[in-house]
Amino acid sequence: MIASCFLCGQVCEPDPSRVAAAQVCPDCSGRSIGQWALALEGLQDQAKILDAQIEECKRRIRLALPGAGTKVVVEGWQFDWRQTNRDSFDTKRFSREHPDLVAKYTASKPVESLHVTRAKEAP
Ligand SMILES: [Zn+2]
Repeated sequence: MIASCFLCGQVCEPDPSRVAAAQVCPDCSGRSIGQWALALEGLQDQAKILDAQIEECKRRIRLALPGAGTKVVVEGWQFDWRQTNRDSFDTKRFSREHPDLVAKYTASKPVESLHVTRAKEAP
């Protein structure tokens, strides 16, 4: 299978430790942390655009269907529009009304997060 770098498109040796969509060529592997941040920003912008476009496709499909609860085959595509209720636990209210239980049953574990934003001032 031919792999290509997701950053520059250059054909490269597939790295079995990476999923095919996240292959990086040797040239791009040497990027600086700032260049990776720039690539991340670009990808996140593309992801926002794709999310909006995906939602627009779904909106248009819903408009073309008779309504929720529809299961039809049209033009070779199957559309199954379901509407169900999803239960959710009211954590805020439970914390307010039973702080003792919350304290007794709260377990803490380390969580990692990475937020990358442009610095206000250049270093
Ligand atoms: Zn590359």
